[in-house]
Amino acid sequence: MSTEPPTFESTNSTVSVTGVIEIVILSSKRGDMSHNSAWTPQEHTGAEGPSRMPSSARQDETTTAPYEPLLLRMKDYWNKRDKQLIKQLLVANLSSLPPAKHHGLVFFMLDRSDNLRTKKADSMGLVILREFDCIVQRNEKEYERIMQTFTDDYKLEVLQLATMAHNNVFTLMCKLYGLDKPGNESLASHINVMLARHQYKEASICATALNLQYLFKLEDIVLPLIFQDKVNLVELYIKPRKEIQKQLVIRLDGYCSRRFDLQSFVDSFNIPGTRLEKLRPKNLSKLIVRLVKMFNLDITLCPNTLQFRELGSIRYLLYKKYIEKSMSHTTWDELITAAVGTDEYLMREVVELLMSYNDASLAAKFAHRFNLPKDSLHPVVLNALKELSLNESKSSVNTEEENWDDAHDGYSEMESKFHQFHFKDDCILTVDNISKLKMCAQTIFQPSNVIGMDMEWKPSLTIKQNASQISVVQLSTANQVFLLDMIALSGNENEQLVGRFFSDFFLNPDVIKLGYGAETDFLMLKKSYPLLQSSIRDRQAFVDLAVVQENAFKMNAGIFQYESDGREKGLSELVLLCFGKPLNKMEQMSNWEIRPLRKAQVQYAALDAYCLIEVYNYLNARLKEVTPGLDLVQLYASSQTKPKTSREKTKKNKKAIRREKQQQKVETFRQGMEQVAKLQRPSISSRDFRVVCDNMLQGLGRYLRACGVDVKILENSDDHDLAAKIAREEHRVILTSGLPFHTLKSHVQEGCCMDVRTDLKAQDQVADVLRYFNVKVTSKDIFSRCQVCNSNKYVAVNQADMKRLWLERKLARASAGTPRDPVSASRPCDAVSPGIGPLSNYSDEEDEFETPDDDVDDDNNEFVYKGPATSKDHSSPSAFPSADDGRGPESEGVHKMYDKDLLRTDLSIDFRNARFSNNTIIQVDNILEGVLNNVQLYYVCSECGKVFWEGGHFQRISEQFGHVISKD
Ligand SMILES: [Zn+2]
Repeated sequence: MSTEPPTFESTNSTVSVTGVIEIVILSSKRGDMSHNSAWTPQEHTGAEGPSRMPSSARQDETTTAPYEPLLLRMKDYWNKRDKQLIKQLLVANLSSLPPAKHHGLVFFMLDRSDNLRTKKADSMGLVILREFDCIVQRNEKEYERIMQTFTDDYKLEVLQLATMAHNNVFTLMCKLYGLDKPGNESLASHINVMLARHQYKEASICATALNLQYLFKLEDIVLPLIFQDKVNLVELYIKPRKEIQKQLVIRLDGYCSRRFDLQSFVDSFNIPGTRLEKLRPKNLSKLIVRLVKMFNLDITLCPNTLQFRELGSIRYLLYKKYIEKSMSHTTWDELITAAVGTDEYLMREVVELLMSYNDASLAAKFAHRFNLPKDSLHPVVLNALKELSLNESKSSVNTEEENWDDAHDGYSEMESKFHQFHFKDDCILTVDNISKLKMCAQTIFQPSNVIGMDMEWKPSLTIKQNASQISVVQLSTANQVFLLDMIALSGNENEQLVGRFFSDFFLNPDVIKLGYGAETDFLMLKKSYPLLQSSIRDRQAFVDLAVVQENAFKMNAGIFQYESDGREKGLSELVLLCFGKPLNKMEQMSNWEIRPLRKAQVQYAALDAYCLIEVYNYLNARLKEVTPGLDLVQLYASSQTKPKTSREKTKKNKKAIRREKQQQKVETFRQGMEQVAKLQRPSISSRDFRVVCDNMLQGLGRYLRACGVDVKILENSDDHDLAAKIAREEHRVILTSGLPFHTLKSHVQEGCCMDVRTDLKAQDQVADVLRYFNVKVTSKDIFSRCQVCNSNKYVAVNQADMKRLWLERKLARASAGTPRDPVSASRPCDAVSPGIGPLSNYSDEEDEFETPDDDVDDDNNEFVYKGPATSKDHSSPSAFPSADDGRGPESEGVHKMYDKDLLRTDLSIDFRNARFSNNTIIQVDNILEGVLNNVQLYYVCSECGKVFWEGGHFQRISEQFGHVISKD
């Protein structure tokens, strides 16, 4: 930061006209300031009456008069976008004053600068504050002392101004005026004013910044925000407060109770913008679980949530059993029993749900097992119960239970439907002690061995059963399968040896290891054996066949003999593609912690590892035929990503360098593969391209909408799994990343799920996505969809109609008595830079006065809208035309924003209520008077009512998308 000493002080004799003004200021200051209290807040004591506050300086022309020229000069520099001169001027003037008066002068300039209250990210106030921040940092102790002398009234006034500004100004003002320091309780009065106006969002941001959460009850801020589904604000608000986190989840859990009357509760609160559907137990319990995980709380604080989630998993299990028919009865029974536990309500629910699937006899069995009182049972269940006891006397129930599996999973049926391998008894060896582990090691660690690897653990359907550990690890050679009993092998005395075994296994470069979607396996293994972290990360000669499968598909070279009907997923699908039959997954979800394992479990576990070797051999042979020169290991490596940073190079050993070189080759290869994939994929117009975006990619989603893509974006409270459901039902491709990608991709067709790189900026992600799916974007597609609501229908409104709407709204507001924003209402024009309109709303500029995913459904425009950067030194790419002044809306590049097919003509305008005949409220409040006078034609989103117009900036923004617009 350049803060050169003020030159004009020492060069009095040779100053220019501008210099003269500055000298006048400097010299007049000394005399005035010594007995002028306007700059010294600590001198304002209560004794001086109502005009004691420092702002009285504003009314009191005599005290601030000498600083008017300084202010004018600053504004002049600001208009010329010369931040450097503003800084120098500030430093010069501050250094001529004692530090005790610095805050006063800065406050005066902030208060009087034109654009501070417009919530723009870039303001003169920000420049001043950043410079002042540098000055303060150089002498922190002194300013600390000064801040302690500030009166409550003074701090309150600073806060009032700060909350009218953009978040970056707000944050700096809180810091530089010590508003967040202890002893600031009196500032709560300002938050109370916000609450009285139902400004819960603003109140929460303010209370969070000032650390005053402890002064408010849940009902004051947190619950209203939850009602309005502004959950991320709640998270920030409660983050530093353990006691509020606990209170909140307990309270919310109460709302999940079956006896809770949600409707009358919500009515009694009467919070504007309440999203009732978000408060139903289904959504609320998700939120609770999310908070419990996020803040590491004890889930047993929330008994209702637990019960609700268990009930959900019971329903899911019934679905699996009766609709999907994808679970053996034994497995199912184990899981149901675990989910019910000792909860009587859940017991009755199980019986009732079984009835709803028309399985009276099983309902009766469970009623009997749970010992439910007979008078509470449905007559049909009672009947079935009688029959059951009759049968019971004839033959033993036990044999029937055991036969159940055979009836469903009969041998001959298995033979015909599923991929099979009949292991002889001595082919499967259970490894449950150290000496057997040593035997296993001898077989496994043969050079150029290929080992199939899989792991099993008890499924945790619910949060209660979260603490699962790896139960079985299967390692298979071409002749033998080892089932490592990880429960028998656990225990301190074995830990070192078992850890050593796996670390040798993973790091051995001569043994090829095969997995399928092994990331989750690795995560579980790391959880059980934290020591293995580094050997798993640095694993050698590992091939994930799920990745191979994906790449083989992209090559589209006819590698697979069979076709998938899309019903099978994951490894089962891969086996089907290679050998014509899927795997039998009936045991997948069984209880892997029982000992000894059932025979069906042993067979299933062994085959899951062994079939990897079968697939490997098959694919290698096919690749030799189809693509000579490309083997399976290369095919796998072709999708591995580049190492993230090369910063740690100095520490790297030779091995690591070799690995990096290998990975560079891989990256080149990957790009080649992308080319291949692209050649195979037919191009698609962005208007026909449909995606569902996971909730960590909301920024990307909005960018894609701006390119005309039909984008559904998951909300923060949605589970990742919802993406798969939407993708299937609405024929959309999934954009996600990281771990969710690995789970989601198995739920949709090959190539319909993309792992988006999160280390990229949203703009670059857009380019990646469009390239990956070969999507063509033309300049006409830009802005064809509303970024807020994804609609692609607009209503054209002419200037006269828009003016009328605007005036009606203004009148309505005035008669309502409370102007929403007195500042911008009193001077609507001085904030408007030419051609800056809501089109720039997508901008992902930093530090806005809000959280990024919260703005979409918010009608409070002063918190939402901000123009694109207008100053020259802002980080706008150089491709932009730098001069944005004087470019009238129609000056150049006659842009037709919207084609005819995007316009609706069937809607009429209800001027009094500012809405269309489909009840969409037109957001006229976003338009400033200066725009109204200049722009002839407006386009209003027919769904969310957002108003767009064409201006010089439209072209500029279009150019931001230059990199994705197709040339042809
Ligand atoms: Zn819209």
